[in-house]
Amino acid sequence: MSLWLLVTGPAQAQSTLQLDRDATQQSLAQYTRYYHDVSATADLDTALQWQKHDRFAPLPAGRNEFGFQPGAFWFHTRIINHNDAEPRWLLVQNFALSDRIDLYIRYPDGHVVHQTGGDSLPFRTRSVPYRHPNFWLDLPAAHPVDVFMRVHSQNSMQVPLTLYTPIAFAEMLRDAQLGIGLYYGILVALFFYNLALWLILRDASYAWYLFHLSAFGLVLFTLNGLGFQYLWPDLPWLADKSVPLSICLSQIGVQQFTRVFLGLRERWPMGDRTSLALIVFFILLALASAALPYRVISPVTTTSVLLSVAWIVAVSIVVLRRGYAPARLFLLAWAMFLLGTAMFAAIAFGVLPKNFFTEYGVQIGSALEMLLLSVALGQRYAALRSENDRIVRESRDLLEHKVEQRTAELRSALGQLEDAHARLRESSQRDGLTGLHNRSYFRDGFETLLRQAREHGRPLSLLMIDLDNFKQINDRHGHLIGDDCLRWTARTLGQALRAHEALLARFGGEEFVVALPGLDMKAATRVAEDLRQHLRDLPCRSGELSIVITASIGVHAITTVTRSGIDPLLQLADQALYRAKADGRDCVRTSEAEPA
Ligand code: GH3
Ligand code: MG
Ligand code: MG
Repeated sequence: MSLWLLVTGPAQAQSTLQLDRDATQQSLAQYTRYYHDVSATADLDTALQWQKHDRFAPLPAGRNEFGFQPGAFWFHTRIINHNDAEPRWLLVQNFALSDRIDLYIRYPDGHVVHQTGGDSLPFRTRSVPYRHPNFWLDLPAAHPVDVFMRVHSQNSMQVPLTLYTPIAFAEMLRDAQLGIGLYYGILVALFFYNLALWLILRDASYAWYLFHLSAFGLVLFTLNGLGFQYLWPDLPWLADKSVPLSICLSQIGVQQFTRVFLGLRERWPMGDRTSLALIVFFILLALASAALPYRVISPVTTTSVLLSVAWIVAVSIVVLRRGYAPARLFLLAWAMFLLGTAMFAAIAFGVLPKNFFTEYGVQIGSALEMLLLSVALGQRYAALRSENDRIVRESRDLLEHKVEQRTAELRSALGQLEDAHARLRESSQRDGLTGLHNRSYFRDGFETLLRQAREHGRPLSLLMIDLDNFKQINDRHGHLIGDDCLRWTARTLGQALRAHEALLARFGGEEFVVALPGLDMKAATRVAEDLRQHLRDLPCRSGELSIVITASIGVHAITTVTRSGIDPLLQLADQALYRAKADGRDCVRTSEAEPA
């Protein structure tokens, strides 16, 4: 007699799943009862005893998530298949991370089929190569079959079981693959888009975004069972480690990304150091996860992720309040992620029931997060660029202003320099006592006059004037009075020569020299005579004194044919002057002839 016939009672009736004629897919939750074998020592015989003594209990509130639990869990479901067209069904546990699953199918004739599953066995041992553990069930029509499942896992205890006909499974697979493809498609597109931006812009925040995105993609790939299916199908030992390892990696990436994106070092140094500390913590946790059992690491990791994301939200709020606009989108992005992750973590701990939004909370939240972050990166880049433009514009304005200022200063300095130079030139050309031009100026001026006279064949005359007995005036009245007399003489000569375009200079001491362009000997002698008369007629007034001053004048007229220099000409005028002195002073004498 089969054991199942012995088991009777109302509880038994509730736990029998009747697959009717057109059933193609059926969740087992309602018909499953469980027993928590804390010491994980029971075998099938023990489980049969529990069933016999009605020790299996209905799932609490119909839910099959128990959180992190010690020991093993046994589940029992009785199935009667009335769909005689479908003798073969696939039992799928829609949770990828259980370590070890033992399935016992007990038929009415007492024979038992044992199958194993979970990620502690190589991927290829699965009935169907699918990311979730699955088992073929032969359910002969109208025969009650007892299904016992033992799950032993360091991971969160989640045992959502569903029966599919092969066609229903294929249909479910098609829809699920579409969803998964959409999700990873978004991640891959974002990856390449931001990779291109990084290569073009060379902004470090893009690199860290890529790191975060890749590590996060790996986390989900692992959680979805795709990592085990595609990346390490023959490395069951890695299956357990991959979750905390990839989570730590993603948190290192995200904390670093946050630091760079928000410019924490400048905007909030204290927060920056805290983020650095978090990075160090996740590095250590990653190392620890390689050594410690998953049961210990997993709750720590899950909690740390929530804290880590909460920290990012806190940091963004602080930076936003300090006036950094790109932090707004950043914050929104993380709020999405936090929401999704919180929902996922809530089912891991058995707080929320599993449904589309909770199960795929992480995917939905993270896809939104990644999208928003990518937009935020663009916004941040635009903000940086306009800030840059502003700085460039301001410094250009400042520079232009400075250049203008400096140019004005330079122009004024140049003007002053020109003035000073002109004054200097003027003073270097003037005699300090009388204000007349000095000898060197006279030489230059005379040279020009001489050249012009020769070019145009015009006459040019030269007067050499020496005051008579001036030494005596000095001796009698003193040098200061003598100076007054020199000044008076200069003024008188200047006034007397005003009618002519004469070039008058103090030649030295009490000697003066005059060049008279356009005047020949005769006219020049007349002018000399006129000067002599002027001097004698106007005594020098100095204080109470009235001093008569006379002068002797030598005249020389230059014939423009001869090519002699200045000095011989001056010498000739001087010789004429000498004769005037010799002839008793206060008279005018002319040179006899020019040197050949
Ligand atoms: P002579 O009629 O032969 O020219 O007699 P003199 O005394 O004028 O001639 P001499 O060359 O012997 O003397 C020139 C004098 O002019 C000597 C000097 O004291 C005076 N003298 C020259 N330069 C200055 C000056 O700048 N100021 C004053 N006060 N006297 C000067
Ligand atoms: Mg003299
Ligand atoms: Mg003299």
